[in-house]
Amino acid sequence: MGRGREPLVVCDACGRTVPRDKAVEYFKSSVFDIDQKDIVVDLTRRKVFYCISCAKHRKIFEKKKKMLSKNARE
Ligand SMILES: [Zn+2]
Repeated sequence: MGRGREPLVVCDACGRTVPRDKAVEYFKSSVFDIDQKDIVVDLTRRKVFYCISCAKHRKIFEKKKKMLSKNARE
């Protein structure tokens, strides 16, 4: 298998496998297991990756920019 190992990640949106350096890392809050008897709300942030086109489509770049400018202001 060729030179160097490029780590591959799976796009959370389309399921495509993309090289990690071409993927966009994003932290997504998830709510799990809202069940009838046990209500467990887990707001842990899950690290996901998106391929460039999904990131664009989902405006991940804008969100990241927003987050960055918000942090810069504080
Ligand atoms: Zn994708």
